[in-house]
Amino acid sequence: MFYRSFCAAVNGLSAQIIKAEADVTDGLPAFHMVGYLGSEVKEAAERVRSAIKNTGYRFPAKRITVNLSPADIRKEGTAFDISVAMALMASFGYIKGNMFEKIIFIGELSLDGHINRVPGVLAMVKEAKKQGFEYCIVPKDNVKEASLADERGVIGVDLLADVVKIVMSDDYGKYTAEPVLWQAGKKSGCGDKDFSDIYGQGLLKRAAQIAVSGRHNMLIIGPPGVGKTMIAERIPGIMPPMTKEESIETSVISSICGEYDKLNDYIYERPVRTPHYSISKTGLIGGGHIPKPGEITRAHRGVLFLDELTEFNRGVLELLREPLENKKIVHTRMNRSVTYPCDFMLIAAMNPCPCGYYPNISKCRCTPDNIRKYLGKISHAFLDRIDIIIEAEAVEYEDIGNEADPENKGESSEIIQKRVADAEKMQKRRYKGEDIKNNAGLNAGQIKKWCGIGDEEREFLKNVYEEWELSARSYYKILKVARTIADFEQKENISLSHIQEAVFYRSAERKLWQKGGNIIWN
Ligand SMILES: [Zn+2]
Repeated sequence: MFYRSFCAAVNGLSAQIIKAEADVTDGLPAFHMVGYLGSEVKEAAERVRSAIKNTGYRFPAKRITVNLSPADIRKEGTAFDISVAMALMASFGYIKGNMFEKIIFIGELSLDGHINRVPGVLAMVKEAKKQGFEYCIVPKDNVKEASLADERGVIGVDLLADVVKIVMSDDYGKYTAEPVLWQAGKKSGCGDKDFSDIYGQGLLKRAAQIAVSGRHNMLIIGPPGVGKTMIAERIPGIMPPMTKEESIETSVISSICGEYDKLNDYIYERPVRTPHYSISKTGLIGGGHIPKPGEITRAHRGVLFLDELTEFNRGVLELLREPLENKKIVHTRMNRSVTYPCDFMLIAAMNPCPCGYYPNISKCRCTPDNIRKYLGKISHAFLDRIDIIIEAEAVEYEDIGNEADPENKGESSEIIQKRVADAEKMQKRRYKGEDIKNNAGLNAGQIKKWCGIGDEEREFLKNVYEEWELSARSYYKILKVARTIADFEQKENISLSHIQEAVFYRSAERKLWQKGGNIIWN
């Protein structure tokens, strides 16, 4: 007898429908699985055989062939188990297979017939629904996640026996789960982390808000303990709330990465990823033997925070340049390519010198050569991807001393979030017919079109350009950031003060990295 059932395989952030065909004939008893299978898929034969037996059915001594098609897709993982078991049990004559064309089966079998959760279920269910499948049978632990995209017809199962019972019944509807509903306007933030927790640091807080408003990448330079991490962790909380589509995107990524604990509801908070400097290339940008998303994709729609930037392997950092430009990464392996999105905001932080205290020359113990070597770990090409560089100073005693005074508490993330959202609205309106959403994405032509300035501003910039020997790239960066500062203040025109502030956000680069920049030491 021959039967087929359907399952799915994850491919990038989407999925592809896979057919499991079972052919059972008389002949020398054997169980073959074919169809370009990874090792876990080959082992499905043993799991399926034991699970069927332990569910109370005899496993007949016949010649069995299972083919997973299409054959040109490499199948990895254990999500095909239930589908294979269903095609087999129908071929054995134990169950009816008349509904198989309408159902997708996803889940891993234990030897005792239990069904285990698998990664990537949300992507698979979305694709199955798009292709017109009516019902999605998934592991019970994946039900919430599968129901996220407003999908109906999701059925959770715990045991192979449950699947048999459902397939044999004529009323699938009574088993289906309720879809999880999106709550529009739900407060988004960073858990209990709020901007008002940070005392002092006015310049740094302002720079962070400007950076977020135009989605500019930012580098914070400062001694240990000035709150670089505190700021970075709170940035997702001042970004505008995620849309439902963005939330589903981040859920699909979490699903593929197997972060099940995040998937009991929609994700309302933007991600912030803080990889350690010892991270590998694959860990950071993704890929590998079985392609997986890296930290840059897990930070999609949120923040990637690289603390102690100079400690990262330089080769690893250089890999960020392309994804920072394209907002996506393509991994190619053995004729197969997988694309992951990675539209994140980069926040990097570093000490100004090995000891951390330069330019405070009463505390810094480093030699000029030490400092130069240390700063040299960051390439100019990498700095080119950063629009805002800000030096953070040690918090003043008065700021700490006033901690108990509620009057001294800074603005809350909620208030800042609204201001950032207003700045974003201005950009959205302006770039309606353009291929960009925010000022960080402006190219040279668009800068000329949208960042016009008056004579006074032009004169000031010309002087800076000549005196600082700016590159054209830096010049454009200043204009882009000035555009954002104007938007942040809800001004249509860029004025001198906006230009001056934008120039200030490049001054640290000149001081520390430019040839003419003079490191002062004792
Ligand atoms: Zn030092």
